[in-house]
Amino acid sequence: MVVSDKKIFSIGQIFPLIGEANGANNIIDGYHLSLNTFNLLLFKKLGRTCCICGLNGIFFAINKEQSKFRKNKIKKSTRLTLWGIDNRDRKIKMTVDHIMPKSRYPELKNNFCVMCKDCNNHKRDLPMNEFLNTNYVKNKLQQKVSYI
Ligand SMILES: [Zn+2]
Repeated sequence: MVVSDKKIFSIGQIFPLIGEANGANNIIDGYHLSLNTFNLLLFKKLGRTCCICGLNGIFFAINKEQSKFRKNKIKKSTRLTLWGIDNRDRKIKMTVDHIMPKSRYPELKNNFCVMCKDCNNHKRDLPMNEFLNTNYVKNKLQQKVSYI
């Protein structure tokens, strides 16, 4: 598994704490972690699996450290990203995407799905029903079927 030198956290370390009362200010292994971010809350609600290719997010890594100024004190918080490993041993970031483009359907609720960065890049701003008809998705579905 190819992993950068960034700090890694397991699913079991992070998932149970997402959205909990203390989620905005957890300290794990010495890192202040923001666990109430929009993406993390959606991963907890929707799961860790790409809705197109089925890739699973299997670990978290530190994305970037942010410094916030609050009451003259610098508060450091660290954002986490979810990663999967594909069958070619590539590290793929897991994202949350709009099922229908927000630009065209701003009023839609529950308009999110989990998607790996590869699939998300191919989807661009297509509505899901159009994306599902692309050759990219058809090839992905064929690859999934061939595993069975
Ligand atoms: Zn995918």
